[in-house]
Amino acid sequence: MSDLHPAASPAIETAVQNVLSEARADLEALVRIPSIWADPAHRDDTHRSAAAVAELARAEGADAVEVVSAGEGAPAVIARWPAPPGAPTVLLYAHHDVQPTGGDEKWTSPPFQPTERDGRLYGRGAADDKAGVMTHLSVLRAFRSLEGGLPVGVTLFIEGEEESGSPTLPALLAEHREKLAADVIVIADSSNPATDVPALTTSLRGLVDCTVEVSMLERPAHSGVYGGALGDALTALCRLLATLHDDKGRVAIPGLVHNDSSAPDLDEATFRSDAGVLDGVELIGTGTLPERLWQQPAASVLGIDAPKVSEVANVLLPSARAVVSLRLAPGQDPLDAQRALHEHLQTHAPWGATVTVTPGMVGAPFALDPVGAVYDTARRTFAAAYGNETVEVGIGGSIPFIAEFARTFPGAAVLVTGVGDPASRWHGIDESLHLDMFRRAVLAEALLLTELGGRS
Ligand SMILES: [Zn+2]
Repeated sequence: MSDLHPAASPAIETAVQNVLSEARADLEALVRIPSIWADPAHRDDTHRSAAAVAELARAEGADAVEVVSAGEGAPAVIARWPAPPGAPTVLLYAHHDVQPTGGDEKWTSPPFQPTERDGRLYGRGAADDKAGVMTHLSVLRAFRSLEGGLPVGVTLFIEGEEESGSPTLPALLAEHREKLAADVIVIADSSNPATDVPALTTSLRGLVDCTVEVSMLERPAHSGVYGGALGDALTALCRLLATLHDDKGRVAIPGLVHNDSSAPDLDEATFRSDAGVLDGVELIGTGTLPERLWQQPAASVLGIDAPKVSEVANVLLPSARAVVSLRLAPGQDPLDAQRALHEHLQTHAPWGATVTVTPGMVGAPFALDPVGAVYDTARRTFAAAYGNETVEVGIGGSIPFIAEFARTFPGAAVLVTGVGDPASRWHGIDESLHLDMFRRAVLAEALLLTELGGRS
């Protein structure tokens, strides 16, 4: 596929190769900072990680580097490199906050001690999304050694509360709108289908969740004296939650958007092993895996408040509650979905139980039409860097800020690129980055900026 290689690629490949060991050291330093913004005990760490990112941007000769926040929001970093005359400006996005570890003792090596095994760097944030941060910084670094320097203007925007649902991002975008305006937005916070197959993520599911409480009695009642004529609230709650799916495991809430997908099906065995599915356990839902994961709604129960098994008494429980999470297909209005979920919960409780629904998060799904010169350039340059054609993928997760970017900068082309692969275990135990894929990701972005700057 040599015709796919832009003419400048040998020099760029060398420049990228030359910055990788320093990038690896900087990535490890970032991973050592437990920037779990969602945990109040790690607020200072998140400020430290923003400061570390700002320092890296300064070292790459940014014109202006700021650590900004909106109200009580997390610190974000904005750094700018001016555009050469006539060249476009590209906004490079990633986030420096990370998910909680899920239990440090469950990790093979400690989550905040980056450790290499079999060509992968393990650590919380090694992929999601400190690899995104270092992809952008490595590209900037590579261009410093190349004649002519940066081919485009760059605005680096590194958020600090993505894993908390970006609550103050709309305020940040509004406040810094002029600084952040760009012709192209590159969001390095998604996944590739394999370490040598580049992807553009073109659809993401939305999200609504709620707390549902079922009440049956004014107070606990003796289960021997009253059981048989009185139901208990936990059983009623379980019966209510069971109505969220039909017997095939499809979401049974009426009125939700379901789409088809033309994406090639995923290998079920690989999918099962990546997800850690036990032998004999069936998958739920119908349709291809891309349909079930990216284009259809999904309902899950994330938690229940009920007495601990070790503390039970022989009483009928007066009330019980649960958190229900609903992922939404592209094209779904999240407020319509929220209404449908609430109505379903309110009308399906058994035995006349009282139901109270408290709304939670609301995030819009997103789908983009990757048509036009920027997307063609991305497909071509990514294919050149990875040695395989660029594919379009959806992701089942939700990144509400992408819709926010698209709304704020309607003229910009949005590219959502991969810094993980199916084995990266984002948000899970033993998160990791495939190091050779990281090299390809840096090269891909460097080639993209070169062509966007008209230097190919
Ligand atoms: Zn992320």
